[in-house]
Amino acid sequence: MTAAEGGTVYLVGAGPGDPELLTLKAARLLAAADVVLHDDLVPAAVLALAERGLTINVGKRCGRKNITQEQIHAMMIDHARRGMAVVRLKSGDPLVFGRAGEEMDALRAASVPFEVVPGITAAFAAAAALRKPLTDRRSASSISFSSGHHKPGSELEPASLLAATRVVYMPGRDLRGIAEQLRSEGLAADLPCVVVSRAAQPDQHVVRTTLKELDRITPGPAPAILLAGAALGAADAETVEEFVFAEAEERLPLDAR
Ligand code: SAH
Repeated sequence: MTAAEGGTVYLVGAGPGDPELLTLKAARLLAAADVVLHDDLVPAAVLALAERGLTINVGKRCGRKNITQEQIHAMMIDHARRGMAVVRLKSGDPLVFGRAGEEMDALRAASVPFEVVPGITAAFAAAAALRKPLTDRRSASSISFSSGHHKPGSELEPASLLAATRVVYMPGRDLRGIAEQLRSEGLAADLPCVVVSRAAQPDQHVVRTTLKELDRITPGPAPAILLAGAALGAADAETVEEFVFAEAEERLPLDAR
């Protein structure tokens, strides 16, 4: 097991609050971090796993009332440039309603290396607490996550799914039907679309395209998942590692459709 790299920022999901719902990777990085910058919602039981690092609450409610997003960026960058292993700890999953997009843009602009460690988002914890499925082939074939919180003075976000990030599980090998469906809903031809095969596995494979070209691409080996949405824009293309894969198709016929 490798230690956390100094000079790197890890955007880590803390999960819904139960330390047992952290990933092993999150627990390891917390234990190894030199500094942990966390949000208000991360409970003490999770922070207790930061054995050696300084923990700083950068939450806007209880931590530092007047802290700006730019100050959080500066703290991450400064600590990393001093050679520290920095954990930016967010409740749930770091890429769901956590301003991670802005934070990653700032890290890219500063040429600070970073890694993202997913976590269990609140929706999954709530479903588990209720012991109810979020999808059920008898009644629900999609899930929508949206925010009830808006910038003061801004319009409510459109309730329509035009502004949503779409995630299609089991997209199958032939994407023509999905492409047609998304176009018929009025989504733009230049909307970024990405097929991620075998995500988080050593032979992860990513194919990027636009909605216009979606029906022309061949997804990588199963299992694969399709994401479509403006938030998937080209900005992070350089950080996605593309792995060459061999005979993975034969090995894993999981994605039946
Ligand atoms: N990144 C987080 C969401 C941050 S927004 C995630 O993936 O879960 C903060 C909101 O998430 C809270 O206002 C609440 O609506 C929800 N939330 C976070 N933790 C929760 C929990 N343990 N139980 C219920 N809701 C939770």
